[in-house]
Amino acid sequence: MTMTYTLTTPLYYVNDKPHLGSTYTTIACDALARFQRLEGNRVTFITGVDEHGQKIQRTAEAQQLSPQKHCDLITKSYQDLWNRWGISNDRFIRTTAPRHKTLVDEFFRRVEASGDIRIGHQTGWYCVGCEEYKEEPTDAISPSCPIHQKPLEWRDEQNLFFRLSRFQTEIEDLIAQTDFISPASRRHEIQNFVSQGLKDFSISRVNVSWGLPVPDHQGHTFYVWFDALLGYLSALLDDGGPVELDRLNQSGWPASIHVIGKDILRFHAVYWPAMLLSAGLPVPKRVFGHGFLTREGQKMGKSLGNVLDPNDLLDKCGVDALRWYLLRDFQFGDDGDFQQQRFTDLVNNDLANTIGNLLNRTSSMARKWFNESIPSKISSPQEKHLLAVKAEDTVSIVRNGMASLEFKQSSEAILKLAIEANVYLNEKAPWSLMKKPGNEQEVANDLYAVLEACRLVGILLNPLLPDLSERMLKQLSIEIDPIDWSKDLCWGGLISGDPLPPPSPVMEKLELSDPL
Ligand SMILES: [Zn+2]
Repeated sequence: MTMTYTLTTPLYYVNDKPHLGSTYTTIACDALARFQRLEGNRVTFITGVDEHGQKIQRTAEAQQLSPQKHCDLITKSYQDLWNRWGISNDRFIRTTAPRHKTLVDEFFRRVEASGDIRIGHQTGWYCVGCEEYKEEPTDAISPSCPIHQKPLEWRDEQNLFFRLSRFQTEIEDLIAQTDFISPASRRHEIQNFVSQGLKDFSISRVNVSWGLPVPDHQGHTFYVWFDALLGYLSALLDDGGPVELDRLNQSGWPASIHVIGKDILRFHAVYWPAMLLSAGLPVPKRVFGHGFLTREGQKMGKSLGNVLDPNDLLDKCGVDALRWYLLRDFQFGDDGDFQQQRFTDLVNNDLANTIGNLLNRTSSMARKWFNESIPSKISSPQEKHLLAVKAEDTVSIVRNGMASLEFKQSSEAILKLAIEANVYLNEKAPWSLMKKPGNEQEVANDLYAVLEACRLVGILLNPLLPDLSERMLKQLSIEIDPIDWSKDLCWGGLISGDPLPPPSPVMEKLELSDPL
């Protein structure tokens, strides 16, 4: 049955150019979006950028650029990077887009009409880097932010507040649903936070010019979350029609899933649903908070000089290698540690040797002994082929795994099928069988089965590694049905007698002599 499936990455903050963390989130969402499309669903895959705030204003000033010019440059670097990585997003939202302002105005008016906006006073020590007030700094004379190591600024201002405290029961009920926040460890963290009692939060700033003006409240601009989160809605309404909240339910809202880093889970799983309820809109179905990447056991940072630049990585390693490592080795949800030796080993063993060589050598044998074509099998009506049974299991593991964002389990299942096909081939040893007369049909059956396993590996890899998948299928002279892969996932798709093109390696080995 066709479903509407809307998924989002976070809207990345354009303070600086994209890093590996945002790339990791975006790759995972891309794999999920590709999978959902192949399952026959109507997918809207949203990504974009959050472009307002004092931090951006100051970063731009420091470079003697206007904030808009700064945003244009950084936003372009995101768009270029996603193009290079082959990201298949359907929408890209910028929060400086005029249509976004129209939407934020309408949303605010609804929330204000619900009586959920109040004026309040806010004083305290503020970090511009974090864009938030810090609670009771330890050094009260010249306190600094523990994250940014920069002096905090004393603020005393009138802000508009969203009455989050009114939504205590609704939010408790929502997060009690086991499938709303995943993984489970993160759900417990949020339940703990909510149980301490929800406090109203400030949604505007005064004296910040680089932001959207709050309608009818002169001098106020919207503060980050009341602007950025609404970008998901603006993106959905960016379909040629008018910007009207009433159109959202025909445009793919509520989102099936927001995929985010664990640091912004509270805003997505607590603040955001309350804001939506206030505006009379449905809440997202699911929020998934994934972990962070370290490198060789260390946090990545400019001061340590160990940042992995996603453009650099792509130049040196290629998209298949990186996608495989990030999706296959790290449990999505947990933190992951980027280790160069392990990265090289996995790519070379899994993709070049196990998968690439299997296809290459089987196809060479078939061409040599069976007229450069797919061998003619004789199938037994009573008995399923051993590899057919294993392939059926693999298909069901991968389909369930991908739907649950278990990219690691799915990748490992595909790899396992390739390993089993290798073992089968080595045990049957067609190169010996062919030396004696009368074994031709048996060899034809064996090679057909192994090629068929290769075909399924290539099909199943499609959402995870679209480029490698395409090279594998091309080697077998077949294509995947982009609308619905169900038929492609059945055993027996190769047609005996169809020509096999001359094989060439589908995956080059990584040879990294220096640290990345
Ligand atoms: Zn800070």
